Amino acid sequence: MRLRLPPRAVPLLLAGCLLACGVSCTGTGDPSATGAPGVGDRLFPDAGNGGYDVGHYTLDLDYDPASGQLRGTAVLTATADRQLDRFDLDLAGLTVRRVTVDGATARTSRKGDELRVSPAHPLRPGARFTTTVAYQGAPRLLTDPDGSHEGWFRTDDGALALGEPVGSMAWFPGNDHPSDKAAYDITVTVPRGLTAVSDGELVATRPVADDRTSYHWRSTAPMATYLATVAIGHFDVTRSTTPDKLPLYVAVDPRSDDAATAAALARIPEILHWEQGLFGPYPFASAGAIVDHLARGRVGYALETQNRPVFPGDGPPPAVDTTTLVHELSHQWFGDSVTPAAWQDMWLNEGFATFTEWLWKQHEGGPSLDASAASAFASDADWAFPPASPPHAAAVSAAPVYGRGALVLYELRRTLGAPAFDRLLKQWPAAHRHGNASTADFTAFCARFTSRDLRPLFATWLYGTARPARL
Ligand SMILES: [Zn+2]
Repeated sequence: MRLRLPPRAVPLLLAGCLLACGVSCTGTGDPSATGAPGVGDRLFPDAGNGGYDVGHYTLDLDYDPASGQLRGTAVLTATADRQLDRFDLDLAGLTVRRVTVDGATARTSRKGDELRVSPAHPLRPGARFTTTVAYQGAPRLLTDPDGSHEGWFRTDDGALALGEPVGSMAWFPGNDHPSDKAAYDITVTVPRGLTAVSDGELVATRPVADDRTSYHWRSTAPMATYLATVAIGHFDVTRSTTPDKLPLYVAVDPRSDDAATAAALARIPEILHWEQGLFGPYPFASAGAIVDHLARGRVGYALETQNRPVFPGDGPPPAVDTTTLVHELSHQWFGDSVTPAAWQDMWLNEGFATFTEWLWKQHEGGPSLDASAASAFASDADWAFPPASPPHAAAVSAAPVYGRGALVLYELRRTLGAPAFDRLLKQWPAAHRHGNASTADFTAFCARFTSRDLRPLFATWLYGTARPARL
């Protein structure tokens, strides 16, 4: 969930951060040999990069909360999809110390949030290559034109990294677009006494020198960059296993451990069991939550970081309410496992998550599904633009993407009938498990569940600009 979404990260260019100052990396001059600085996202043109696909990230991070300084090494294993004399990584701020490609020093330059890398030897199409970036500095909090924040939040006892939509480039170099999912090994070394929580499963904890501890987290399931997180600080950690045999790792900042939050978190096994009944098997090897207290600054939103969503305790208690927990956990299917092909497909995340909230409220004896739909239908904010066509980057998580996105599913349920719709709710996440999907993929998929022509439904509810006379 992002109630307010920042459109683009602010370009940052640090003087003195060039490894090869003054060197112009123009390659051979053959444009086909240069990886594009973006993947061509309509809303975020510079997000991600062209020319390669990352298969695995190894991030080795050492963080000093007292100074806010991060020292990192990122090792990216990728495959070139064309001849590459040069390619880009996304990186906002920080100082790059050295870049190698397949062990040989590469030339680099910086342009805005692009780190341009020219390997010593051109990469052939299909070549699997390893890029190692050594970097350091104080990671930035990225402030967006609408005033919201993402990237690296420095807290009074550590830090919290949140990346939707383009905030991961604040703390590691990568291909920062949801279309390039990869596996991760994230190792974070922090002062002894602090805990570092991330995505996936904790595979090792070990002492470093006399006074530091490293936490090694592994995500074997593919993950989009925006879903990667690190939370560093004082946490009460609860490890358990659900009756469905799913390992849970729940980390709660003691200062955010109010009674309502504890009661909500205690329902994670029940919520996941209920959601599995709706959406099919949980897509990852573990689950949980991260609740971090922010004594300074505000995040202002929860985020469905992979395996364990983040809930910032930065407002009045409770830090976690059950409905928001239901929303973020549903994203593990819709967003984290089935990831949008592009940011304009964001309604496939938030429409499903909002619809799940409606189902949960009905399940809990609250407003019926019909009442929730009627409320969204009556909301003028939900009709500001069609959910499948956010007009600009700042609108990508505005109200229509949530409420009207859910109305698309409500209308589908009425048209297909509940039995067919219930099958669709399970088969859609199964068909695109751990992959990417676009709005066109979804509308084509829906046609399998009916002999009726669904085009008028999508024309009205997904793409139409005018509110129909009635629900
Ligand atoms: Zn959401």
